[in-house]
Amino acid sequence: MTTSGSNPDFAESQVALAMDWGGTWARAAVIDRQGQLLWQGRVANEPGALQDELVEAAGSLLLEARDNAGERSIAGAGIALAGSIDASTDMLLSSPNLPALNGVTLPDVWQPMLGMPVWVGNDANLAALGECYYGAGRPDLPENPAARTLVFVTFSTGVGAGVVDGGEVFIGAAGAAAEVGHMTIDYRADAPPCACGNSGCLEALASGTAIGRAAQARLAHATPGAPLQLAYEANATITGQDVFDAAERGDSVAVEVVNDAVTAIIVGMGNVLNLFNPDVVVLGGGVTQGLLQLGLLGRIEDGMRRRAMSSGHRRFRLVPATLGDSQGLVGGASLVWAKTEQQAALG
Ligand SMILES: [Zn+2]
Repeated sequence: MTTSGSNPDFAESQVALAMDWGGTWARAAVIDRQGQLLWQGRVANEPGALQDELVEAAGSLLLEARDNAGERSIAGAGIALAGSIDASTDMLLSSPNLPALNGVTLPDVWQPMLGMPVWVGNDANLAALGECYYGAGRPDLPENPAARTLVFVTFSTGVGAGVVDGGEVFIGAAGAAAEVGHMTIDYRADAPPCACGNSGCLEALASGTAIGRAAQARLAHATPGAPLQLAYEANATITGQDVFDAAERGDSVAVEVVNDAVTAIIVGMGNVLNLFNPDVVVLGGGVTQGLLQLGLLGRIEDGMRRRAMSSGHRRFRLVPATLGDSQGLVGGASLVWAKTEQQAALG
């Protein structure tokens, strides 16, 4: 185990181990300071496996990653997981994708096994950190320096988010801050229900699931033979992607549904501007791909700017995520760099 803040050449040559542990796969990688993936592997979560078995299988993958780092010095391992993680003990409090992991403290198990420090973080928080260090938050043009305060929101089957301020994730007292997807946008009694138990949340109005559901509810108003109707007849269900494809072909119901989702996103992201005062806002997930497909990001940015309360809140750029599939892995490595830099600063 090595950490070095005093020898920049040595620190530059270091690598991190990263893991992105999702509902189906545990993926692991060896990643360098430039964010390059030098090696990667994955192992499937055995259905019905007990906590010990899951932890052992994923741990073996990390050992394999360590062996594949070769002669490079490893700064530590960063693990990205969905769910909430106790900020002081690193215990996984609730894991929606892998409930068998509830209550496990991975650093306690893996630090002795790997012989290096292990840190865990919420996957959306770490995606925010990865995008900040290596993705959309990096300086690109002279007028766009490195992000000071970056908000990342992924609009996918659900809506997840993370906030990075001054290079560190804003995690909250219970490790559960910045649930942008669960801010109330529609307070009316008949607002759509949300998976969190509330109703009218941004996720209930603008996730891929919500967009598909809203279109399905309006099918009675669709023109027979229109693109949305045909998508429904083919699969007996409508996905968010079906709605974006139909809207692109001029389907009037699909256009209405997309417009409603865009309005919800503008209101929600306008709130985010006023709350966090970010200079970079990064949108990710399948819904964002659909919005890009329809050329709607500019309209969202304009709408957000109209809702910003001051000129200081209007000074931001809205950009799509750039790390794609490796977001969780690069985020895990970014956690290692953030933690080792913190420790070096403390001496
Ligand atoms: Zn909710």
